[in-house]
Amino acid sequence: MSFFIKLNNILTSYDKKFLFYLFIFTVVIAAVETVGVSIIMPFLSVANDFTLIDTNKYYNYFYQLFAFQDHKSYVIIFGIAILIFYLLRTVLNSIYVYTIMYFINSRYDLIVNRLFKKYLSLPYKSFITHNTSSLTKVIINEAANVTELFWFLLILISELLVFIFIYVVLMYINYKVTIGISVLIVFVGFFIKLVISKRMKFYGEEREQYQKVFYELLNRNFQNIKMLKLHFDQSVYSNFAFSSKMFVKTKILSSTLQQLPRYIFELMGFSLVVLIVLYYLLSDHSNYNDLFSIVSVFILGLYRILPSITRIFLSYNTILYQYKSLDIIYQDLNLECEDLGTQELKFQNEIKLENISFAYGKCDVFKDISLSIKKNEKIAFVGESGSGKSTLVDIIMGLHMIDAGNIMIDHNKLTYFNLASWRKHFGYIPQNIYLFDGTVAQNVAFNLNIDEEKVVEALKQAKIWDFLVTKEGLDTMVGESGVMLSGGQKQRIAIARALYQNPDIIVLDEATSALDEETERQIMEEIYSIAEDKTLIIIAHKLSTIQKCEKIYMMKDGKLTNV
Ligand code: ADP
Ligand code: MG
Repeated sequence: MSFFIKLNNILTSYDKKFLFYLFIFTVVIAAVETVGVSIIMPFLSVANDFTLIDTNKYYNYFYQLFAFQDHKSYVIIFGIAILIFYLLRTVLNSIYVYTIMYFINSRYDLIVNRLFKKYLSLPYKSFITHNTSSLTKVIINEAANVTELFWFLLILISELLVFIFIYVVLMYINYKVTIGISVLIVFVGFFIKLVISKRMKFYGEEREQYQKVFYELLNRNFQNIKMLKLHFDQSVYSNFAFSSKMFVKTKILSSTLQQLPRYIFELMGFSLVVLIVLYYLLSDHSNYNDLFSIVSVFILGLYRILPSITRIFLSYNTILYQYKSLDIIYQDLNLECEDLGTQELKFQNEIKLENISFAYGKCDVFKDISLSIKKNEKIAFVGESGSGKSTLVDIIMGLHMIDAGNIMIDHNKLTYFNLASWRKHFGYIPQNIYLFDGTVAQNVAFNLNIDEEKVVEALKQAKIWDFLVTKEGLDTMVGESGVMLSGGQKQRIAIARALYQNPDIIVLDEATSALDEETERQIMEEIYSIAEDKTLIIIAHKLSTIQKCEKIYMMKDGKLTNV
């Protein structure tokens, strides 16, 4: 039941309407298919024996209806009608396949876009608790699996319809035998559900687990290639091999199980036929004609119904296998995200933290902190690693929501309504910057439009333009995570990135700690000159870098003290 609740939640109202029309289309297709398989026999019979037109009431009905003059032209017209029917069937089926492919693949498109948007609008605190390789996996893999699940669900529905049509026809022909077949199907169906379906769901969950490890290992090793090369160990290969082997194992077992229902049904069906015949033989029944007519209807019924039933179980089990993906997509699409307003927030005088408290989960970082930062003030936070400096700065930038207290900007309280506007005031330079594989200009503008003039201006301010001119200027490639640049150059690009939007508050979170002293000194000089008419917030270890700050705060044991 929870399956339908989740499905209902994932599908939009447009999807549901679409599915409704698709269902009607499926009924038409199922009817066409049923006619398609049964129309050729009557044609062959009447072509072989014209007298049927007079003796058989169905042939005769159409003969009378269209007032045919002779038998031959009746059969010819019948043949042409069948040709036209098959032509239409082909056209209709092509449209049907397109409609289904359109539906499921555009759902993929929709789901991955919703996920991407969802993940990016998660509260910062919640985002950092997620493993990014696992988020990538959800978007690439689980969404594709859910698409497959949709497809098999549609197959299941259409096969159920075909099954019902054939079943009705069989009931009409011989209801006793059909009921016999039904008992068999129910019996075997229970067996399959009990033994196979449960396993399929289990393998689906295992698949997810091993694939998660798989992605994580890819990420871990690609991101740490230097470490890997320095301290290489064969276990890298064996760990990866294990996760891929286990992942493949679930695929092997589930794909095998997927096929099994067919063989089980055939086993039950045909051994039952043999057993009935043997029973007749052994119990000395005399009426063999009776027996063979029943058995032949039985075989015909099985022959028509088994493929359909097999596909029903195949799609049912595949759906169970992909159920875990539905679970994950459902969960992730329902993650709570930030709902930010568009209210403008100006900063003219003062940022005021009033008795704020913050905790990661149950773990308090600080309690009851108050602080005032005047516009254009240069302030610094110092303190031991882990004392909460970065967390405090993230709070000031509006990335973390506080658990208690208020943040006032001039006389406006910082709320969800003005948070988006507030964040735009900041230029942020972290210690670990991530430059992506692209040009300098793309890296500086990040996701925003590239305004070349502004990019050059920012690069000049960051004192890296002269270097870039000797390369390819704005088109200089930086390499993935900036491998083609030195630490100092990377940091300058990061500074240009922070300055690109012309922020009025610049934040440095241990931005220069990794650089050599000379470069650090130079960069800090430049930062102070850039920030002359800006507010500057620095987190630093070395006192030399914060000498020019007007206020220095020490963070210790969740408290701030003036130094
Ligand atoms: P600092 O920048 O002063 O070194 P942080 O603000 O990064 O310190 O961290 C403050 C404390 O919060 C540390 O004890 C750290 O372990 C904890 N912490 C930081 N980030 C998280 C997180 N995402 N989840 C849980 N605890 C965290
Ligand atoms: Mg820190």
